[in-house]
Amino acid sequence: MEINKFNELEINEGIMKSIEDLGYEQPSPIQAKAIPVMLEGHDVIGQAQTGTGKTAAFSIPLLERVDVNSKKLQAVVLCPTRELAIQVSEEMRKLSKHMGGLKTLPIYGGQPINRQIKALKGGVQVIIGTPGRVIDHINRKTLRMDNVKMIVLDEADEMLDMGFREDIETILTNVPEERQTALFSATMPKSILDLTKKYQKDPVHIKVVRKELTVSNIKQFYIETRNSNKLEVLTRIIDVYNPKLTVVFTNTKKGADELVSNLQARGYGADSLHGDMKQAQRDIVMDKFRAGTIDILVATDVAARGIDIDDVECVVNYELPQDEEYYVHRIGRTGRAGRAGIAFSFAFGRDMRRLKDIERYTKSKIEKHSIPTVGDVEQRKVGQFFEGVKETLEEGSFAKQLQWVEEFCDQEDYSLIDICAAIIKNSLGDEEKHEIKEETSRGRDRDRNGNGGRKKNYNAANMTRLFLNVGRKQKIQAKDILGSIAGETGVAGKQIGNIDVYDKYTFVDVDKKIAMTIINKMKNRKIKGNKLNIEKANRKSK
Ligand code: AMP
Repeated sequence: MEINKFNELEINEGIMKSIEDLGYEQPSPIQAKAIPVMLEGHDVIGQAQTGTGKTAAFSIPLLERVDVNSKKLQAVVLCPTRELAIQVSEEMRKLSKHMGGLKTLPIYGGQPINRQIKALKGGVQVIIGTPGRVIDHINRKTLRMDNVKMIVLDEADEMLDMGFREDIETILTNVPEERQTALFSATMPKSILDLTKKYQKDPVHIKVVRKELTVSNIKQFYIETRNSNKLEVLTRIIDVYNPKLTVVFTNTKKGADELVSNLQARGYGADSLHGDMKQAQRDIVMDKFRAGTIDILVATDVAARGIDIDDVECVVNYELPQDEEYYVHRIGRTGRAGRAGIAFSFAFGRDMRRLKDIERYTKSKIEKHSIPTVGDVEQRKVGQFFEGVKETLEEGSFAKQLQWVEEFCDQEDYSLIDICAAIIKNSLGDEEKHEIKEETSRGRDRDRNGNGGRKKNYNAANMTRLFLNVGRKQKIQAKDILGSIAGETGVAGKQIGNIDVYDKYTFVDVDKKIAMTIINKMKNRKIKGNKLNIEKANRKSK
């Protein structure tokens, strides 16, 4: 049996609520297969790597088996490293948040044993530990295994490589025989199969089978960046490459909504598309995207299936997908109809291994791309600026402006070249720079300068600030304002700048040229049932 949705599972309501809180929209392929089998009580051999959602794949059935009314130890997860033990423990804590009375504890070497003993005495139903330290506790009789109903060996191949075989066997012989045993491993060498033969009962082998797909006309890059810098890096990519339309992928709907708010706050025309939205809502977003009213769509894998638009020039994997096949589906949103496309994947630390898997699977090379510098962003903007200047020069219809310049030159004692430079500065702005610390996963640091995204690129001289009499109190978000203005007036998202939503009112920066059109068209309209008053803001509110 395989599930398509989490709500097909008959599991504790608390776990279901946590899945919802975490924003997991659909089970990843390994979860779809492993969870139902484990819930039926079978032993399992799961072939999966980090990043595929394997932790939740075993944690959900494990938590379902735990009796929260008993304080005894009921489940054990063995991990090769303390980092992984902490990570698994963290995920399990999130999944069990609404299961009152459930205690999980990571136990690993390097942490004072007395602290662990104290915590264990308080009653812990699940431990996540490294083999050496678990043995230590068994020998000290601070861990009693006689009520353990389930044991999971996570990254079993790594544990064997690290020489934990004997410890693992000792632990397995200490756990009652009528237990359920699950083993997860990225590779399946003979040593692992020997272990499963010896310690598992009729295990079900779970592996995700994939179709072959091609991605030949898409240039693929990865950018090494930490989570904290991703937003900045994304905005720089968009500024430098200036794609017509961009699709950005996140793994959760919560992540998609957060990213959209952050992009909107920086003045980008973005909206989200995910499985929680009704079909009618999705259609509205897709129409806006197709029309270019918004030029960035932040989507989850579930929603992305319907994106079939030729003008998508760039795809960004804000988070690496949980399955190689998703990767192919994602980047396949660009490079359509024989056109060239570009795809960026953000990765850091453990993600590097997943990238290698993706390369192997797609039989293609994903090249490293450095973080665009502020210089790159500036160069692009200046290039565009002069293109525009050249066009105007060729058209030649600027007699009025010529007269202004002549008058100015008669009155002032500046050289023409200085005047031009000052005009450029006024039009493009002079960026306030801040640093992005570019790090490789191997820890080398290099400092680079950066800008704060498009928000700072707006030149106040070209923008008019509008005041709207609605705000947070009316449950208004930046995207409502953007959607409403774009929808009512047909202006492109790019002509709308910063949107600052306050409790009772909102300020919106718009291109000077279209400010009056917006005011006239929006006057007396309604946003979320509230009659709108829209006018030019007072200068002091800038
Ligand atoms: P893992 O392979 O267990 O290391 O998981 C990788 C990441 O995927 C973790 O950050 C999880 O929180 C996240 N994750 C697990 N299951 C899902 C899901 N069904 N949808 C979205 N994200 C998930």
